Amino acid sequence: MAADLLNVIIIGSGPSGYTAAIYLARARLEPVLFSGQEIGGQLMYTTEVENFPGFPEGVRGPQLMMGMRKQAQRFGTKIIDRKVLSVAKEGDHFVVNDGKETYRSKTVIIATGATSRMLGLPNETQLLGRGLSTCAVCDAAFYRDRVAYVVGGGDSAMEDALALTKFASEVFLVHRRSEFRASRIMQERVLNHEKITVLWNTEVLEMQTENEVLKSVVLRNVETKETVTQPADGVFYAIGHVPQTQFLNGFVQLNSEGYIVTNLVLEQASADQAVKRFNEQGRLPFVTQTSVDGVFAAGDCVDFRYRQAVTAAAYGTMAALDAERWLEQHE
Ligand code: NAP
Repeated sequence: MAADLLNVIIIGSGPSGYTAAIYLARARLEPVLFSGQEIGGQLMYTTEVENFPGFPEGVRGPQLMMGMRKQAQRFGTKIIDRKVLSVAKEGDHFVVNDGKETYRSKTVIIATGATSRMLGLPNETQLLGRGLSTCAVCDAAFYRDRVAYVVGGGDSAMEDALALTKFASEVFLVHRRSEFRASRIMQERVLNHEKITVLWNTEVLEMQTENEVLKSVVLRNVETKETVTQPADGVFYAIGHVPQTQFLNGFVQLNSEGYIVTNLVLEQASADQAVKRFNEQGRLPFVTQTSVDGVFAAGDCVDFRYRQAVTAAAYGTMAALDAERWLEQHE
């Protein structure tokens, strides 16, 4: 077991984890950050990022993440490139185990993110950033006057299809069933849009390439089993996300889909609670606090809605400030 009692352990190396580390290291709290196996998170699989403020010409995802990592290290963050296997409470502190060593800390920030659900087609990894995307908000603008496909039937798929209509010449929405699960208003917008063609009861069987770039998709009707090959410049997966919270094994409260429940979500459910607690305790509750006192959570493992690098970084800042104030109050 590592001997020192740390102030704060950050789990995760996406924008929220690194941003939390930058703040905490600058506050001289000597954070230790576990990067996990996928160092840098989802942005490592992105090519051009054009919506992160401060980069007028855009920035490559891996470059952005390496910059954040260096910035966190510059102020003294210790980064351990291993995956955390478990977190537990022991007395008045937390123990974090990475399979090799056990670390003790007064507070923990969980920033493990969420991964986009994938179809499992063989060339998905190679095609990410070369015709395949999991974020229309990020990548729709690259498909000006192109033919794009969106896969899914939830609100994300509706949003993505509508976002693409601003750029693409034609948008096909591929859904495996004959009805959407998206909200009615979003369905109506999609069904009434002249640029969008819905392909019901259809699945993407194959993505075909030419010179390693997407050229066409093979679609199959799930009922008739008929297949058809159509030209395609872009495919956008919008089939949900999986928050990386399995390793927590019930340590903090999760919602039914595995996202970490924090005060932010609770306060949205009842703004009165915040006022009540403020009156009782003389201070506002920590927005990023989980169900366990001293454990905070930030980024896409909490946020099932916005899921942007900027919002994740902002959550990381909030978690860092919450942890810092928590430490001050518990000195
Ligand atoms: P979702 O609601 O879980 O929808 C996922 C969709 O992907 C479903 O239609 C599902 O099909 C399909 N799908 C899943 N696995 C598939 C597979 N292997 N092959 C083909 N299709 C597959 O996910 P989401 O759209 O990302 O939304 C997540 C949550 O965020 C929802 O609560 C949603 O309302 C919310 N959200 C809100 C907004 C907004 O308010 N503006 C925007 C986006 C998301 P089936 O329907 O057949 O299961």
